[in-house]
Formats: sequence, structure tokens, C-alpha cells
Amino acid sequence: MNYTSTRNSALKVTSAHAIVKGLSDEGGLYVPESIPKLTKEEILSFCDKPYVDRAFDVFSKFLTDFTKEELRYCVEGAYNDKNFDTNNIAEIKKLKEGRYVLELWHGPTCAFKDMALQILPYLLTTSAKKTVDGKHISILVATSGDTGKAALEGFKDVPGTSISVFYPEDGVSPMQKRQMTTQDGANVNVCAVKGNFDDCQNGVKAIFTDKDIEQKLAAKNILLSSANSINWGRLAPQIVYYVSAYAQLIKDKEIEYGEKVNVVVPTGNFGNILAAYYAKLMGIPVNKLICASNSNNVLTDFINTGVYDRNRQFYTTISPSMDILISSNLERLLYHLTGCDDKLINEWFDSLKNSGRYEVNESVKAKLGELFCAGCCDDSETKAEIRKTFNEEHYLLDTHTAVAVKVYDDYKAKTGDTTKTIIASTANPYKFGRAVFDAVDGGAQPEDEFELIAKLEAATDTKMPAPLAATKGKAIRFTNTVEKQEMGDIVLGFLNK
Ligand SMILES: *Cc1c(COP(=O)(O)O)cnc(C)c1O
Repeated sequence: MNYTSTRNSALKVTSAHAIVKGLSDEGGLYVPESIPKLTKEEILSFCDKPYVDRAFDVFSKFLTDFTKEELRYCVEGAYNDKNFDTNNIAEIKKLKEGRYVLELWHGPTCAFKDMALQILPYLLTTSAKKTVDGKHISILVATSGDTGKAALEGFKDVPGTSISVFYPEDGVSPMQKRQMTTQDGANVNVCAVKGNFDDCQNGVKAIFTDKDIEQKLAAKNILLSSANSINWGRLAPQIVYYVSAYAQLIKDKEIEYGEKVNVVVPTGNFGNILAAYYAKLMGIPVNKLICASNSNNVLTDFINTGVYDRNRQFYTTISPSMDILISSNLERLLYHLTGCDDKLINEWFDSLKNSGRYEVNESVKAKLGELFCAGCCDDSETKAEIRKTFNEEHYLLDTHTAVAVKVYDDYKAKTGDTTKTIIASTANPYKFGRAVFDAVDGGAQPEDEFELIAKLEAATDTKMPAPLAATKGKAIRFTNTVEKQEMGDIVLGFLNK
């Protein structure tokens, strides 16, 4: 199986190459040349396998340049009960009326990014051995919260790697900051930047393109790489949990083989929902892919009209991981829906770069309409959904998942579709404790994060997950705050140790 680029269909590379490089030279995203299929026997065989074996089988189809031993090493390093608080890795909670919440946050940082970032270091170091033998891989991450911590947990103490994370001084929640600044591991560095997320991101991009830094690091046999969500090594692991969830629902006798399911995904960069689309192409019977957005509803408009227009107000919401106006992974979907037309993709994405807008053709519009439905809701509707689900079913949703549930409820009311539905749950509610507490209780909030959490526990009779509780007694290791021009020196200093 080879990989090609969304902006150059003539390109052919191995999966190892795609994973090490992240982004193709001409700026395109790596996509598999064809999508491998799952047979009925294979899907049914997953019912009696643990998650780690389901992952192994799915990866075997996409990463054909990896040996069986290499893939075993990767999946077993990632999907075990040391990293996840359950052997099932992802849990399914049944709500009423045919809704199944797929909890993707049982990993070490309590957010769904762990599903991919726990395995990415293994995929990356294995890929590096095959393509750039012997080089030390140093990861740079600019983060507005969840990705930074998940990447730190994934890469900490992985041989042959190190990681530097930059976050905006005032741009992350107190809990997110605490999670990052108490990070352990001998190969990690965390630094606050005086500025906003864009400053951090631009600073990281500047380091990647700095020839002087590149040379200095090359002399030490170090290669810089990124862990962002356009890397194929982050997307492939996400396909696994949709395949796994379908098999699990068969095993639990909730559905029969061949029965269609809807999938609802709270969406930001379009990685998670794209993985569900790939699962459908592999043969998982998916009826509608339902794309849920918050007030930053650029995707809702796009799916409903075929016009992508980022020229609009940006909202800071209580579901911050979805506060995005450019959803990078959409490019992969469009590449497939145009029948691999790299010229059209270049045209549209040039237009996005130059004017912030593009419009797809009638054929793509029609396909989008067949495959997807889209909806959005604002913060007050999100809170109302958290309150309603808690009051009616005693199940506590986080703010992102609540957007998905609300958009699904609207979809069902409008269409009358009673197909059973998987709702991707992307974070544990305690990661966004203030908004969740406001939704279910509405009372005064103590300033201290752990006092607030104690109140949320008391109000809902639920428990803060262990990894968040563990940050309480931990010493702060990283206190550095720098100007954005200093980021390069910080990286060099860290790697020169
Ligand atoms: C990253 C993230 C999302 C968005 O996922 P995409 O794959 O970028 O669409 C949604 N919810 C949470 C909690 C996240 O961390």
C-alpha cells in the first residue's frame, strides 16, 4: 500500500515515509492510494478480540511496510492498561433511544487525543528506523491545551525522541496548564510564550524553516518533526476505534452484523470524523456521518452549501478544542470525493489561502450531502444539553461531547431517523469542570481548581479521573515564560544538554 499527496497524485511513498515527513513537500496531505476493505469474517472476528488485536489487524492493512513484529511493538506499547484506565481502551455507554456514547478519553490525559498520541511515538520511531536510520527525532508542538499534554504523555521517555511544547501564557485553562507544567519524563520540555496561540504556532513554524537551526541539529543527528493532527500516524489510529466500536456493538448484541449506524462527531480539525469516513470506506456500515460544531460553524455552512468561507467572526467558546476556522483534514476528504483530482485541490486550497474561501463543484456537493449531515449549537445550548442529559440519564457530558449530543437531537427531530447512533465523546467532563459545573449546578464557583472539582463531584456524585487528581500533589517542573523570538534558542538549549 502506497501513499500519495492530495496536491500531487503522481507521488508514491511508503507509510513510514509519510509518517516521518508529516506534510508532503508541495504542501499536500498524505493519503492512502486505495482504502483496504474489511470482510464480514474479519469484522465478526473482531468481536472476540481485545482492542490491541483489533488495532493490529487494522494497522496491518494500512501500514504494509511495517513488519508484524514492528506493528506488535507499536500497538502493545500504546494500548495497554498502564496507559489506559480500562483494558477496553475505549468504552461504550448506552444512553436511551439508540444512542451509544463512545468514550475516547480513558487515556492518560483524559482526552481523545490520547487514542492517537499514545501510539504515534512508536509509529514515528519505527518509521524513522526504516527511513532516516539512527536519527534522534525531536518533536515540536504549539498547543492551545489538549494536544500539548497528550503529546507529552505519548513521547515522555520514548527512546530516540524528545519533545518541546509551547503554550500561550494566558491561553490555556488552569487545569491544562497544571497538567503540562507538572509533566514528568527526562526528554520533555515545556515553555510558556508571551503571546497567543498563533504566536506559538508561528514561532514553531519559524523554527521548522530556520536553516541555521536545522544545520546545528543535523550536526547532532537530530531531526525535527511535528505531532500535529494532519500526520497520517495520527489519523490511522482513529480509524481503529470506529471499527472496534462496531464490532463491540455486535458482540454486545446491540446491533446485528450489517446493520447501519450513524456516527456523530464533535469536530474541529476534521480528523476524528474523517477517520469515521475511512471506517465506512473499509466496510463498516455507516448511514450518516453527522458533523457537530460550536458557534464556529464554518463546517456546518460548508456541508450545507458547498462554500467554505473562513472570513467570519471567531468565537471563544466553552468547547475550545473546536474553536477552529480552518479544518485541515477536510482536504483529505475532498481529495477522495473529487476522485483524486489534485488540480482541483490545488485550486481550492490556493483560493482558501488567498481569499479565505472556496466553493466545491456540484458533484462534490452532492456527495457531501449523501454522506454527511451537519449542525451547530452555541454555548447556552451546550450547557442546556449537559443539564438535560445529566438530569434525565445521570450521565455527565463534557462540553465538546454535549455539542455532538445536541446536534444529534436536532438531526433526529428534523429527520425522524431512528438508526442507532454512535456519539464520539472526546473529553472527560472534569477537563472542562467550570463550564460543566455551571451547567449542572449554576452556583458560585471557588477560584481554586480543586475546590471547584470537589463541588462538581458532590453535585453530580461522580469522580474526577485519577490522572487529573494526580496533578494535585505534583511539583511544578516548568516555570519558564519567554518572548516568541526566543523559542528557537529554547529548543537549541534543550537539545544541547
Ligand atoms: C481535538 C478535539 C476535538 C476536535 O477533533 P478534530 O479531530 O480536530 O475534529 C474535539 N474535542 C476535543 C475534546 C478535542 O480535544
